[in-house]
Amino acid sequence: MVGVIAVINAGSSSLKFCVYFHRARGLEPALRGQIESIHTEPRFKARDAAGAEHGKTWPEGTALSHEGALHHVVDFVRAQLPDEPLLAVGHRVVHGGMEFAAPVRIDANVLARLEAFIPLAPLHQPHNLAAIRSLLAARPDLPQVACFDTAFHRSIPEIAQMFALPHALHVEGVRRFGFHGLSYEYIASRLPLFDPVAAAGRTVVLHLGNGASMCAMHAGRSVASTMGFTAVDGLPMGTRCGSIDPGVILYLMDERGMDARAIEKMIYNESGLLGVSGVSSDMRTLLASAEPGAKRAVDLYVYRIGRELGSLTAALGGLDAIVFTGGIGENSAVIRERVCRNAGWLGVDLDPEANDAGGPCISAAGSRARVWTVPTDEERMIARHTLSALEG
Ligand code: ADP
Repeated sequence: MVGVIAVINAGSSSLKFCVYFHRARGLEPALRGQIESIHTEPRFKARDAAGAEHGKTWPEGTALSHEGALHHVVDFVRAQLPDEPLLAVGHRVVHGGMEFAAPVRIDANVLARLEAFIPLAPLHQPHNLAAIRSLLAARPDLPQVACFDTAFHRSIPEIAQMFALPHALHVEGVRRFGFHGLSYEYIASRLPLFDPVAAAGRTVVLHLGNGASMCAMHAGRSVASTMGFTAVDGLPMGTRCGSIDPGVILYLMDERGMDARAIEKMIYNESGLLGVSGVSSDMRTLLASAEPGAKRAVDLYVYRIGRELGSLTAALGGLDAIVFTGGIGENSAVIRERVCRNAGWLGVDLDPEANDAGGPCISAAGSRARVWTVPTDEERMIARHTLSALEG
């Protein structure tokens, strides 16, 4: 079966894609790119396997629909790889609810079941599904596979999924799901190559990007996550607040007269590093800034990671290794150094030179818990799943 597998990650204002050659040797990158600011000033950027860059900007005032963006990508792929049949498309879908613990081949029936989860992830799920629906209409013969950010966390024990709310809500599905599962699954697949002891033991993975979460893994399976019912829980993120006292929401409603939409905008878009610093949601900008707000935001970020690391270690009953990934985790030696310094009590001893050099192993020789930096690759994980689903 020679051809290509495409991976689509359709967000609210951007559409990211990756294309892999399917060869006897395995999956090899062919193209990768994105259309940003779809509705305002669309910009298309892509890079092929040889490193050549491709781009397009539309005339000022142009707004694309998601469907228009998707078709632009499909046409681009066809033009770049005219002799490569498109074998299947894998989609990142944020929520698989309680039902989907593994990737699934999509048909009209599955699509309808996935639409039921829109209220659980209103900012992501509708866009993920719109891309699927549009391709299903245009190419009903083309195999499509949904890969879920929640699926890897379906192994979390029931008790760790529970909120202490009336139990009927838990049964209905108001529970901790956890997200970034495709990233954690990829790291779990790499860990045996680096650290077989941790792969079979107790590891906390820190996925620190614009979105950020942490996952406690026992023998490569998720047993707890900082994210909960939605992807706004847990750590402070670029613009999301992370865990807050639910009483704050009531205060905002009663005393500030804010409704659900206004609070949603505040906790998803105006909080986190951006809200605390008043400077930026971007870690690089904050680390380079002399503003007191920037320091405040970074201090809180590091402090919250330390608290969660203690909590997840308790859930695991010990710690064999920690793994840093995501844009901040992979690239910021300063954040890694500060997190590891605070984690000394957990047996973490950093090797500063290895940390500055970027790893992969950044702990000192005698460190009781080992520390790794491992680049994540959610797209490759989706491509692997898509291929497996295709091959049955
Ligand atoms: P997303 O969650 O959107 O995929 P990324 O994983 O790309 O995001 O992470 C983006 C974050 O990584 C930004 O806050 C960015 O500033 C940060 N980042 C990237 N490189 C560095 C670096 N060298 N030092 C500090 N932060 C960095």
